[in-house]
Amino acid sequence: MGACRVAIHLVRMRIGIVGAGMAGLTCGARLAHAGHEVTIVDKGRGPGGRMAVRRLEHEGATFAFDHGAQYFTARDSAFVEQVATWERDGIVARWAAAGPDAWVGTPGMNAPLRAMANALGVRFETRTDALERDGIYWRLTGQGAPREPLDAVVVATPAEQAGPLLEPWSQVMGDAAHWIASKPCWAAMVAFEERVDAADILSDSLPSGGPLGWAARNSDKPGRDPSRECWVLHASPEWTRKHLEDARDEVCDALLDAFAAQVGPLPGVVAKVAHRWLYARVDRNDDGALWDRDLRLGVCGDWLSGPRVENAFLSGRQLAAMITG
Ligand code: FAD
Repeated sequence: MGACRVAIHLVRMRIGIVGAGMAGLTCGARLAHAGHEVTIVDKGRGPGGRMAVRRLEHEGATFAFDHGAQYFTARDSAFVEQVATWERDGIVARWAAAGPDAWVGTPGMNAPLRAMANALGVRFETRTDALERDGIYWRLTGQGAPREPLDAVVVATPAEQAGPLLEPWSQVMGDAAHWIASKPCWAAMVAFEERVDAADILSDSLPSGGPLGWAARNSDKPGRDPSRECWVLHASPEWTRKHLEDARDEVCDALLDAFAAQVGPLPGVVAKVAHRWLYARVDRNDDGALWDRDLRLGVCGDWLSGPRVENAFLSGRQLAAMITG
């Protein structure tokens, strides 16, 4: 009778997921599809994670920027299939300027995450400070964290944020996170009065070791307002590391100077701001995802797979398969 109860109980688990980026949402969507009850929390204000969109308001006008991931590619057949579904739903489109296999969310990079988050009912502005064990159940702790007991927990955050949650419970997972050092990235978002006379993307032509690692006309992407001249300037990891504690305005100006050095005099600036991504990109790691069946604790994210949106998708998908398999 007892064994029977356990078996029935595990058919439909209550699973808490910390992190609503591509990895956590992909994992959550597949677990929900398999019949599990999923509770997803994210400390951010809205959907996106590192595929977030930032809006600047100026004199009644709104300027939108994809300030994290710029585009994504789809090579694995499972992701190709997923992207085709999103394309049919009108929430992704090809961005030819970045290459024949480059995709972006429309109207913003976070569009596919917004769709998944809406379907799953993510609780935003809810940070998890620790995982607690109460008998056989898990609980998330943190301001506003759901207090209901959970049968299983998935951590889907960057490695540096996953480590402190995992270390008390799993040495394997804690160690895996501990050895990752993500590269930081300063991102400047700049709206200009007029069109900048430059190619839509500058990347390979930029001097290595310089401040600028990438510059792109955000307003050139499909589904954006082309009348708003919006640019995203990403600093190189080396420059970002040296200037990690600089003030945002200084960073904006330094990246604008580096941009002007490449393309010549710039039009007037309407609005600008800088954002510091502390954990932007990882070096490759091939584990994919980790799942401890006895503890019912799992971890996924790009840092377990590779430094791209597609890797985050594959990691979340792999973890869901490990949990349901
Ligand atoms: P994330 O998107 O980071 O999601 C993790 C989520 O966890 C976040 O929403 C965060 O708020 C939440 N979280 C963290 N800690 C907690 C906590 N304690 N409690 C609650 N919530 C928490 N990839 C590409 O494919 N192409 C590119 O061109 C590209 N360019 C990039 C440029 C930059 C500047 C950056 C930052 C990234 C770029 N990437 C690019 C990488 C890509 O964005 C990531 O690989 C992918 O989005 C990672 O998804 P994820 O779900 O693993 O993590």
